Amino acid sequence: MRRPYIAGNWKMWGTRAQAAEYCDRLLELLPDEGRRPADVGVCVPFTALDVCVERLRGSGVVVAAQNMHFAANGAYTGEVSPAMLTELHVMGVVLGHSERREYYCEQDRALQEKVAAALAAGLQPILCVGETEEEREHGKTERKLRHQVQEGLEKVDRERLADVVIAYEPVWAIGTGRVATPEQAQEAISFVRALVGDRSRDAEERVRVLYGGSVKPDNAAEILAQPDVDGALVGGASLDPEDFARIVAAAAS
Ligand code: PEP
Repeated sequence: MRRPYIAGNWKMWGTRAQAAEYCDRLLELLPDEGRRPADVGVCVPFTALDVCVERLRGSGVVVAAQNMHFAANGAYTGEVSPAMLTELHVMGVVLGHSERREYYCEQDRALQEKVAAALAAGLQPILCVGETEEEREHGKTERKLRHQVQEGLEKVDRERLADVVIAYEPVWAIGTGRVATPEQAQEAISFVRALVGDRSRDAEERVRVLYGGSVKPDNAAEILAQPDVDGALVGGASLDPEDFARIVAAAAS
């Protein structure tokens, strides 16, 4: 059985003071670790990472960054290395979010390096993939997913494939309020899983593939009930600890 994973992507939200307050409130709302229906994570801005690590210590809630450079160090102004994250006891990192692909020219080639570097450093990567509205309308969804998944996992050894979390996030559903139907999410995610299966049957069974795109407390249960959907990457709705905790609770379905 794959354990569901509900991760909140704060994007560019959260001063250190807001982050501290958020974490305290979230812990009040979540069941104790042993009674949670899902793993829970928060993906937060670099400046709030240490605050979240400290506030969430011992709670089982994963703290993840939202980007990372693949190199250990070097002339990469403005970038952060894997060791800079692990030094803070950060446990994961979102890679290839569509906003980074769109606004910061994040390329599959660099993502290959990043996914492998994250694993080597002991960070759990959440690799984001997904088609645009135009690609879906022109029947190019599978082609796009195949390209992004194969490229993103290219440098990952077969034995480590299941250590990557993949988030299927259709671009047209992110921040738009237009959530994919449960059937659309299931279809795309089972396709993503099969792509992993082309590399390793074992990893196909074990890899966790999340859905992301306008997940809210009132639509989460239906999506999370799909057989191949192993959780959710939640943007906007994760900024309210009450809503986020309700989405975690929906994973019980
Ligand atoms: C995201 O940022 O990954 C996301 C899915 O955002 P939202 O839930 O706001 O659509």
